Amino acid sequence: MFTFDLKKLNFNNFINLFITSIKFYIKSKKGGYQITIITTKKPFEEVLIALKGVQKIGIISCGSCAAMCQTGGEEGAQEMAEKLEKEGFEIKTIIIPEETCDNRVMKKDLRKIDAELGEIDAILTLSCGLGVASINKVLHDKYPHIPVFIANNTEFMGMTERIGRFYMRCRGCGDCLLNETGGICPITTCAKALMNGPCGGMVDGMCEVGNYEKDCGWILIYNRLKELGQLDKFSKLRDPVDWSESGHQREVVWR
Ligand code: SF4
Ligand code: SF4
Repeated sequence: MFTFDLKKLNFNNFINLFITSIKFYIKSKKGGYQITIITTKKPFEEVLIALKGVQKIGIISCGSCAAMCQTGGEEGAQEMAEKLEKEGFEIKTIIIPEETCDNRVMKKDLRKIDAELGEIDAILTLSCGLGVASINKVLHDKYPHIPVFIANNTEFMGMTERIGRFYMRCRGCGDCLLNETGGICPITTCAKALMNGPCGGMVDGMCEVGNYEKDCGWILIYNRLKELGQLDKFSKLRDPVDWSESGHQREVVWR
């Protein structure tokens, strides 16, 4: 049940929150959400340090990836609002956009709370880092003085086994090797992101990093290539990863 302190929300906030909650419910029932960015909650003490000197807060809680990771959405916003109120903060507005990372969504949703934005000292976003970038971009022209803080740590792009079980299987390196490795990413499944393996730390198919609790990525690659009849690819010597491809301001712009 939705249990925000409604006395603190004006009529527009309430209607926005209500409509978003209905949309969220319908979409989640249809299984329409795609998990992409996996987030975890920062320790609350860390959030308090970031909010030092702030009194009036607007909470923006992402209704997509973060909601599924239980670091955002309706429940995340409610929990955060209650915790902040106990610490003496004033929550002026709460919104749950469908996707904070989408500038178009944020433009539309932030317009609806324009009056409240004039009153707040800061925004706290329950999203991934993309949410902060998106909100900053959309807000900047009209409200350059409003800082946007984040309550989450952005972990990785996640493959979802089921809700609560997310695995890093791609780091977006910009130079995908999967065609050579049987569809298994060496950058995320080898603990040292080696381009040629296994290394000397492999024992009985297990990786020395993490005390032999995880499979060696290069043994997984070997087994998969063998299964596919493509072991010739395994013996190919590859150059080390060219991290310069992932180390600068990357973008994909096609129109
Ligand atoms: S090699 Fe791995 S990290 Fe790079 S794009 Fe392919 S799957 Fe992603
Ligand atoms: S044991 Fe395997 S997974 Fe672990 S670092 Fe060496 S090659 Fe990579």
